[in-house]
Amino acid sequence: MAALAISCGDNKKEKEPEMQIGTQEEVAAPAETTNDSNEAVVTIEGNDQMKYNKTEIRVKAGQKVKLTLTHVGTMDKSVMGHNWALLAQGADMAAIGQAAASAADTDYIPADMADKILVHTKMLGGGESDTIEFEAPAPGTYEFMCTFPGHYALMHGKFIVE
Ligand code: ZN
Repeated sequence: MAALAISCGDNKKEKEPEMQIGTQEEVAAPAETTNDSNEAVVTIEGNDQMKYNKTEIRVKAGQKVKLTLTHVGTMDKSVMGHNWALLAQGADMAAIGQAAASAADTDYIPADMADKILVHTKMLGGGESDTIEFEAPAPGTYEFMCTFPGHYALMHGKFIVE
């Protein structure tokens, strides 16, 4: 009985922590200086419905582009692989798509079209992502695509350098 009484009494002692108003004299250190205007951070997703979530990407000439492709689906890259390939201006997307279809050994990046593909991410399966960095090419409108067989019909868009 005595023990019970004591524990009951102790319950009254709860105290809320006091707010520390006016004690934060330290000034947060400034963020690391980066020239944000010189870097374009781009994220794009591909899904199990064979779609990108963006059909247009805009960057500025001279910017460093940091692009991350994420496959937000769950399907394996052998059946629903996605990459992001930036094509040279005037490149024939259909021709690249057809050549890519027989380039399984090189992740569907056809070696004989290397001069038509400026940069590309790895081929990804569900849950994977890849980040690439490159200098924005000369101002103009470029096309990007997924080179997995048959995907470019749905998975493509414009990459605009202003
Ligand atoms: Zn794809």
